[in-house]
Amino acid sequence: MTIPSLEQLHALGARQQPTYDDPAALAAVVDRLRTQPPLVFAGECDDLKEKLAAVARGEAFLLQGGDCAETLAGVSAENVRNKLRVLLQMAVVLTYAGSVPVVKLGRLAGQYAKPRSNDFETRVTAEGEVTLPAYRGDAVNGFEFTPESRRHDPQRLLDVYNASAATLNLIRAFATGGYADLRQVHTWNTDFVSGSLYGQRYEKLAQEIDKAMQFMHAIGIDAEELRRVDFHSSHEALVLEYEHAMTRIDSRTEAPYDVSGHFVWIGERTRQLDGAHVELLSKIRNPIGVKLGPTTTADDAIALAGKLNPENEAGRLTFITRFGAQKIRDGLPDLIEKVTASGLEVAWVCDPMHGNTFEASSGYKTRRFDDVIEEVQGFFDVHRALGTWPGGIHVELTGDDVTECVGGGEELTDADLASRYESVCDPRLNRVQSLEMAFLVAEMLRL
Ligand code: PEP
Ligand code: MN
Repeated sequence: MTIPSLEQLHALGARQQPTYDDPAALAAVVDRLRTQPPLVFAGECDDLKEKLAAVARGEAFLLQGGDCAETLAGVSAENVRNKLRVLLQMAVVLTYAGSVPVVKLGRLAGQYAKPRSNDFETRVTAEGEVTLPAYRGDAVNGFEFTPESRRHDPQRLLDVYNASAATLNLIRAFATGGYADLRQVHTWNTDFVSGSLYGQRYEKLAQEIDKAMQFMHAIGIDAEELRRVDFHSSHEALVLEYEHAMTRIDSRTEAPYDVSGHFVWIGERTRQLDGAHVELLSKIRNPIGVKLGPTTTADDAIALAGKLNPENEAGRLTFITRFGAQKIRDGLPDLIEKVTASGLEVAWVCDPMHGNTFEASSGYKTRRFDDVIEEVQGFFDVHRALGTWPGGIHVELTGDDVTECVGGGEELTDADLASRYESVCDPRLNRVQSLEMAFLVAEMLRL
């Protein structure tokens, strides 16, 4: 299968793209990227696709999570390790409660480009009102509010490639080198539960897991599987130059794969059926996702599946719904019913973040922990009522103790947001909120 050229993609009126002012510099970057080694291998993408096929069949659950926007400065051992740790902790709780494998997928090692509602940002500075290009993620420009930093710089695509390589290298080492050992991850969970008042709410489930661990120990289970985990990478495929340059023909199958990440998804703002992103992703063989917001009709979803997964291969396509806590119970049933009635093989995953963002009185963009949980509850209720499988969650989170979302057991308030708000884009659940979410979703999975 051949893939369209970059020119053909741009001719489709690609949305949310950087505007580069130096075509020669851009061309040089794209040429350089094309010669770089793959970040992931086609066979690994196929393995993930098989795991996602199990999600689509109702035999596995997907946990996908990480920053809204990774930053180049955030590529430190500590930051990556903390994110991996919280995801592994969540996965253990969900695996036990769901009694199904949990597919672990990081929103990391490539999540550097952001779609924006406005192309420009205006701030009141000492010099008066200043308007500059909006921050579009470290793949495109800098967060700092100066004309130099906000210029769209193609060199950043090479920085993203290198940062993603470093992140993946670390993740691969952690995932297989003993850090992900189930017994250790379980100890972190028991520390969380016994170490705080809000953790204690989850004591019962933690004790059950503890019993299961002791049982396995008693009968002498000491399998290699306990010491390592499968962990895959994902990001939104947004900047066409980057994703196109990283798309390669796999020598084994002679099919194109986007080797910038195992799983790539199309965002809510770029999912036009005849648009460039759908066109490019329809041609690659990776497992892919599409975000579906509350304006999505069942016909839209069916048409997207027809174009993106014409052979109706299970595991190939994941629909990531992000309706908002107030809309999911009304909007989701029709979508699921009609997609299911069409015989389409898709995995359904809930993003309970992007429909629940609002501006706090302090001016920070935030989300309420309770809204996030309420959307997941709605997602489970709708699927249970229809007899379909609530296949997973897609969460913006961090392993650090930031203050970006309000609520949760620590009862973070608007006034707390200023103390440690570090996201350069959307607010993430912090470590404690993420663990609490895992225990709460575990209760939903168990029923
Ligand atoms: C995101 O995942 O950060 C995002 C921008 O989501 P959506 O495309 O669903 O708005
Ligand atoms: Mn986001």
